[in-house]
Amino acid sequence: MAVKKWKLKKGANCYNCGDATIHDIEVDEFDIKIRCRDCGFSRYYSFHMVDLPRKCDVD
Ligand SMILES: [Zn+2]
Repeated sequence: MAVKKWKLKKGANCYNCGDATIHDIEVDEFDIKIRCRDCGFSRYYSFHMVDLPRKCDVD
């Protein structure tokens, strides 16, 4: 029962190159990954949903 990743695109100001560029955003159960298409700079955010039973923890 894998949760499908969401793939999104968003125009945003890049923290690295400082330009307004397209960012690819991938969202899965626990993480958000944002990548600048222009310079390739990636950022990750982790979050934990509350009170969702998990079959396995990956650390
Ligand atoms: Zn950039």
